[in-house]
Amino acid sequence: MLPHDLNVDLHMHSSASDGVLSPAALVSRGREHGVALMAITDHDTLDGLAEAEEAAGDLKVPFLNGVEISVTWGGETLHLVGLGFDRDHGALAGALRSMQTSRFERARDMDNALIQSGMPSVFDAALGFAGNPNLIGRTHFARALVEAGVCRGVQEVFDRFLTPGKPGYVSHEWASLKDAMGWILSAGGVPVLAHPARYRLSETAHWALMQEFMALGGGAIEVSTGSHSQDDTRRYQRLSVELGLAASRGSDFHCPKESRCDVGRAPPLPDGTLPVWAGWTVQDARAH
Ligand code: AMP
Ligand code: MN
Ligand code: MN
Ligand code: MN
Repeated sequence: MLPHDLNVDLHMHSSASDGVLSPAALVSRGREHGVALMAITDHDTLDGLAEAEEAAGDLKVPFLNGVEISVTWGGETLHLVGLGFDRDHGALAGALRSMQTSRFERARDMDNALIQSGMPSVFDAALGFAGNPNLIGRTHFARALVEAGVCRGVQEVFDRFLTPGKPGYVSHEWASLKDAMGWILSAGGVPVLAHPARYRLSETAHWALMQEFMALGGGAIEVSTGSHSQDDTRRYQRLSVELGLAASRGSDFHCPKESRCDVGRAPPLPDGTLPVWAGWTVQDARAH
């Protein structure tokens, strides 16, 4: 039984998706920051997990497999974190691979959209920031546009170009919630709804999402995350208690210069919250 106030970080990105640190460097940063249990949750890929697990074994940092799957639900993009699954389970890895091919096409469309709005083409530079061309995403374009001198920082690129309604934004059809939940559950993992405060959903749609998530076997919602304000954290703490859902905590760390929250530094879960790790043991974590 792991305590409520353990320094747990169950959401972060390595260079396997849109983080900048290698999986091993991320584990080492977790150790430096006193993280007692960590999961690496790259977007739509399991590629960094073998390296991370090896480093975690060497550095004696309890480690869980993780992933953050892009989902389209009600016309909005949602992120679903999966934790503690068996990464050799074929269905999850195979499904993620089939999702990846569409990222490259989408990147071409984003580049064209940016060119249409008078920006230089940064496709090659964005590819350079993406370790794997099939995992290219908006963050890589943001870094490329900063490098090209178009904006001063990644946040400014998102605000001006890469969010819905802005000229470089290309809408995309990701996995369905039902499928993504099924892939995680069938590989023995726990599905966690990532940063719920970030979604632009009506009150009714938000409630329907929570009901559907629970009906499909949802395990927890992120309450304390680098992507939530203090108000968001309070609101989702209350909701997790009301719904009887466990709560998760994660930094959503990507890069020392870009991220609001470093590894292991998300605010602690508020008192009175059931942590998703309450029933786990450190041996469970190592076993995965
Ligand atoms: P993609 O999967 O290619 O659509 O990229 C999604 C990633 O872009 C997220 O995981 C964040 O890292 C980043 N991102 C999305 N929206 C924003 C935003 N408003 N500000 C900063 N970064 C963002
Ligand atoms: Mn990201
Ligand atoms: Mn996310
Ligand atoms: Mn994330």
